[in-house]
Amino acid sequence: MTKGSDTLAPAALLRQAQPCLWLNPQRQTALPTALPIAGGRIGLADTQAAAARLARFAPLLARLFPELEASGGVIESPLLPASGLPQTLGLAPGCLRIKADHLLPVAGSIKARGGMHEVLEFAESLALRHGLVTPQSGPDAYRALADPTARALFARYTVAVGSTGNLGLSIGVAASALGFRAVVHMSADAKEWKKERLRRRGVQVVEHVGDYEAAVAAGRAQAAGDPYSHFVDDERSLSLLLGYSAAALHLHGQLQQAGIAVDAAHPLFVYLPCGVGGAPAGITFGLRQVLGPHVHCFFAEPVQSPCFLLQMMAGQGAHPSVYDWGLSNRTEADGLAVPRASLPAAELMGPLLSGCFTVQDDDLFRQLVQVLDATGERIEPSAAAGLGGPAMLMESDAGRAWLAAQGLLAHLPQATHLVWTTGGLFVPDEEYQRFVQRGRSLAA
Ligand SMILES: *Cc1c(COP(=O)(O)O)cnc(C)c1O
Repeated sequence: MTKGSDTLAPAALLRQAQPCLWLNPQRQTALPTALPIAGGRIGLADTQAAAARLARFAPLLARLFPELEASGGVIESPLLPASGLPQTLGLAPGCLRIKADHLLPVAGSIKARGGMHEVLEFAESLALRHGLVTPQSGPDAYRALADPTARALFARYTVAVGSTGNLGLSIGVAASALGFRAVVHMSADAKEWKKERLRRRGVQVVEHVGDYEAAVAAGRAQAAGDPYSHFVDDERSLSLLLGYSAAALHLHGQLQQAGIAVDAAHPLFVYLPCGVGGAPAGITFGLRQVLGPHVHCFFAEPVQSPCFLLQMMAGQGAHPSVYDWGLSNRTEADGLAVPRASLPAAELMGPLLSGCFTVQDDDLFRQLVQVLDATGERIEPSAAAGLGGPAMLMESDAGRAWLAAQGLLAHLPQATHLVWTTGGLFVPDEEYQRFVQRGRSLAA
């Protein structure tokens, strides 16, 4: 495993595309009940409202998606033990867990959370406006949104999105299942199988030669001014972010069930792969509200695409791009290949986030194989980004100094480390075998 050379400052390491750790000097321990974002404020009530919306729609989702029948329409992932991995990462046995969003049904990635929530919020606003449901409606009225009357209404509307792949998969599948016309603008780095999977579901895929930002801009422009088009804006959407944040409520229950306390003597470190920042920011927002100051969230980004780290270092008022730093934005972690961070997500993270670190692509493949060998779980390269987090934090000088300054060193033996694995369920076998081969040849 490569770690940041401790003799260089983060800025020098970033320019050289070397792994580095940045710690957030703005993080606050005590939080107000609502936090500023995009000119407004959000709090725990907004996360609870998103979770309640997902719950209202669960009966409909169970009807629309055969794979959700067993869970009654709940889209959630297990919290897995990761025995076998701790030795590899130099941790005490039992302290490492995997939050397995690579298993999330419907979309096969963390995007199932935010993407589904935003499509449902849009569908609900139409259904309310047309009297198909009311604020008092129960499960039957929501289940009836799969009937011809509702579908005819939804069919008049287009849901569009710009994506490197996984958000497109989530929005495309969710929107087309409800009966919307779905258009997905894909960047050049989107994988072919993701486009094919969408086309098979009747989703229109528009291919762009440019990067993620270009795909989002094209989609935003095409949808602008069309009252029958809803554009899911990955760089700005609050609905996406709040959909992601609902994960915190479910995880809280999973931690309790597993007997994992989170308090001053039992800190929880969470490592989240980060692209534009909406998913990890939503989850961090939720976790800080639900679990308090003793949860420490870290975002993991590819060394060529550290857009969120750059944004957090630059602060509000600036909007740096990885290209400005001489970086290429080229990475096998297609879900994280984003040149510029979401500004609302970065604003929200000011008082909440503990830090960011960067990862080399080779390490993603090594870690993907470690996960396979230790747990049998199949994850995609983007989803492996968090696995280097514990070592980055505990074995680098910067990490040790920060742990000492925070008074966390004494509590490390009782700490839990949670690695959020964010995608992989639908990766075709052939493609996955190539990932494994690459990881094994690197390890040899
Ligand atoms: C999109 C994605 C992320 C990060 O989400 P952002 O909202 O873009 O930060 C992480 N992992 C995978 C697999 C993804 O597809």
